[in-house]
Amino acid sequence: MNTPTPNRPNRNPQRRPNMNSHPDNRQQSPDPRQNPNRRRRRRKPKYNYGALFFLIASALIILIIFIVIIRAIAGAVNPPDDKETGNASDTQQSESISEVTEPETEAPPAVIYDYVTRTETDLHSGSLILVNYENDYVEPVGFKTVPLYGNKNSSYKLSSALHEVTPEMLENLNAMLAAFDAATGKHDIIITSAYRTVEEQQAIMDERIENYGEELAKLFVAEPGKSEHHTALAVDMAVYTDAGEGMDISDDEIYSWIEQNCHRYGIVRRYAEDKIEITQIGNEPWHFRYVGKPHAWQMKQLNYCLEEYVEYLKQYSIENRLSVTDDEGAIWEIYYVASEGESTEIPLPQGVIGEISGNNRDGFIVTISIS
Ligand SMILES: [Zn+2]
Repeated sequence: MNTPTPNRPNRNPQRRPNMNSHPDNRQQSPDPRQNPNRRRRRRKPKYNYGALFFLIASALIILIIFIVIIRAIAGAVNPPDDKETGNASDTQQSESISEVTEPETEAPPAVIYDYVTRTETDLHSGSLILVNYENDYVEPVGFKTVPLYGNKNSSYKLSSALHEVTPEMLENLNAMLAAFDAATGKHDIIITSAYRTVEEQQAIMDERIENYGEELAKLFVAEPGKSEHHTALAVDMAVYTDAGEGMDISDDEIYSWIEQNCHRYGIVRRYAEDKIEITQIGNEPWHFRYVGKPHAWQMKQLNYCLEEYVEYLKQYSIENRLSVTDDEGAIWEIYYVASEGESTEIPLPQGVIGEISGNNRDGFIVTISIS
């Protein structure tokens, strides 16, 4: 009903106070020159309101334009900053990449080798010499043995004061049997045989043939001149208890610790049951041979006997080295260099000290300690 009318008063009162304010202004400003009140009434409200709205609108528009300009300026300034920083980082990356890649492309790895000369005689020396039924032992130049007596520790015993081994075998045998003693409390391992001359080997063979017959004797005793005991890198072990009782090392499970851990000391159990056809030697749980730590480690991993391992190494060269890492993080690199007869130049990466061993057959094995 009256809906239109209440709306109108609502609109008008908004104007009325303004209208009222103008009369107040007129009363406060009794300027005689301002006679045309109608003009003021008409113009001032219209002009003021229009101007007010215009000003507000203008101010808003200016403000908006200002904000837009500011943003535009900010946008025009900041994004390039981002881009510049982005570009800068990109260029830095590309520069760093180019810094890395350039040397590779421009300067291919210039491998510089040092060369060490080895003679044919040197084929017979080193910790990896293979002495067996088809590879005769040849005494190396400068062959050196040391007696166990006076040099061994208290973790094991000797059947003879005359037993001798190489210095490398002495050091590692001591370490291994000390560790065995520490792990098991056993210190009754006895070394029953070590270095043997060809004559001593012949005497043993004669005695065994007499007692056991030729076939059995030859299964466990190498032909004189073909025995690993000539190298002084091998020992035979048995057990001699504090009570004076002798037994085989395989008679008590506790001694299997040695077979399970000997590779950590560069020592291998040389003649196993499953390798008889290769070694031509019967299962000998008592016979241990030093070959060097990385080699013993790798032979253990591969379950290779020395005959197999020496052949396996031939696939590795200085360009394609075998890398061996033990469980303590020690790393070695190993490669093979075929013998060239009287004189062989063995390449070594410059600045590296490599241990070179002959294989007693046809080449040399280089072992480099990386860490
Ligand atoms: Zn032996």
